[in-house]
Amino acid sequence: MSVFSEYKDCIEEGDLVLVWISRDNIKPIRVDSNEIFNTRYGSFPHKMMIGQRYGSQIAIRTKGANKFAFIHVLQPTPELWTLSLPHRTQIVYTPDSSYIMERLNCNPRTRAVEAGTGSGSFSHAFARSVGHLYSYEFHGPRYEEALKEFREHGLVDADKNVTITHRDVCRDGFRIRREDVTSHQFGEDEGEVAIGANVVFLDLPAPWDAIPHLEEVICSDEKVGLCCFSPCIEQVDKTIEALNKHGWSDLQMVEIQAKQFESRRQMVRTVDDAIERLRDVKRRKSEGLERRKRMCESLVSDQPEADETEEKRPVTEKTKFNPFGKGARVKEGDANYKWKEVTKVEPEIKSHTSYLTFAFKVANKSRDEEAVQKILESTES
Ligand code: SAM
Repeated sequence: MSVFSEYKDCIEEGDLVLVWISRDNIKPIRVDSNEIFNTRYGSFPHKMMIGQRYGSQIAIRTKGANKFAFIHVLQPTPELWTLSLPHRTQIVYTPDSSYIMERLNCNPRTRAVEAGTGSGSFSHAFARSVGHLYSYEFHGPRYEEALKEFREHGLVDADKNVTITHRDVCRDGFRIRREDVTSHQFGEDEGEVAIGANVVFLDLPAPWDAIPHLEEVICSDEKVGLCCFSPCIEQVDKTIEALNKHGWSDLQMVEIQAKQFESRRQMVRTVDDAIERLRDVKRRKSEGLERRKRMCESLVSDQPEADETEEKRPVTEKTKFNPFGKGARVKEGDANYKWKEVTKVEPEIKSHTSYLTFAFKVANKSRDEEAVQKILESTES
């Protein structure tokens, strides 16, 4: 089993752990009792993590200041991996990958083809849900990196459900044969991998060049779903042309605009508050102008600023309560003020806004009477 789909309670030596420092700073580490995980807040010896339950908070006292720094140690999931992985390319984020897998009805019976592998973000999500993933990457070092990573994560090799192949799919298609550079381990009599894909995902600059080759590897007696992930509309146009030409139907283009809504309280402000605020601005402005005028006069007359200047200096009292946010801070929800519930949009949600082009194909439209009869009999009984 892969660490990404197998659950365990406690951290052990050698585990891959995702260290949550903050929402946009998650770091993967391999636990090694001789190592120390350094952050700008402090240093956390890996030894402190061993034996802790996944999800625990680990705190240390910071040097000098009598304060605590803390991290959370999390079990890897495809979603957290997407947020923490080393980027080798642009990646597909969870709002897109989850929608695509749902739309293509991915399940343990799915045999998916994916090109290119890139940073392996989507590959990890696929690997958890599908029966088998065939991933292709034409860039040599990227293929090697992905293979190493998949191996470390328990995704490739015998009885695992990911196969990665070094291949330019636009030029050479998707078939995997004995002579190819691939993670597939061929059986003695096996000359070619029987892929029989029923899901296809293309994240390539020119998917239209790969589409004609799909025929060789998609299954002919099932409905096959396809999604192309392209950042610009011209690419979508060319993809649609190729899909139409090669017998794909039910074409639809979708764009995911993921937003996260937060429930917050906002202070209720009245017209009187607004008037008071305007008066305050005006008062501060005229006091400032007067002070500036006095300073200029003292410079022109070459008189040092007399003590009286200090005396004359207007004392602008710090605004005690300012419903518009400046001045003394009021804690959200303070019972002394009136509040209303509002929703705020989380700005930093990570989603690479590409266009998703979906299409479907049923190659063999003839009816297998024998199979239909069997299904009917089983439902009757
Ligand atoms: N979906 C990936 C992820 O979530 O990490 C990112 C894919 S990245 C945007 C595109 C990848 O496709 C690159 O790594 C590139 O090298 C690879 N690529 C481009 N053209 C290719 C081709 N003709 N055959 C195979 N891979 C290709």
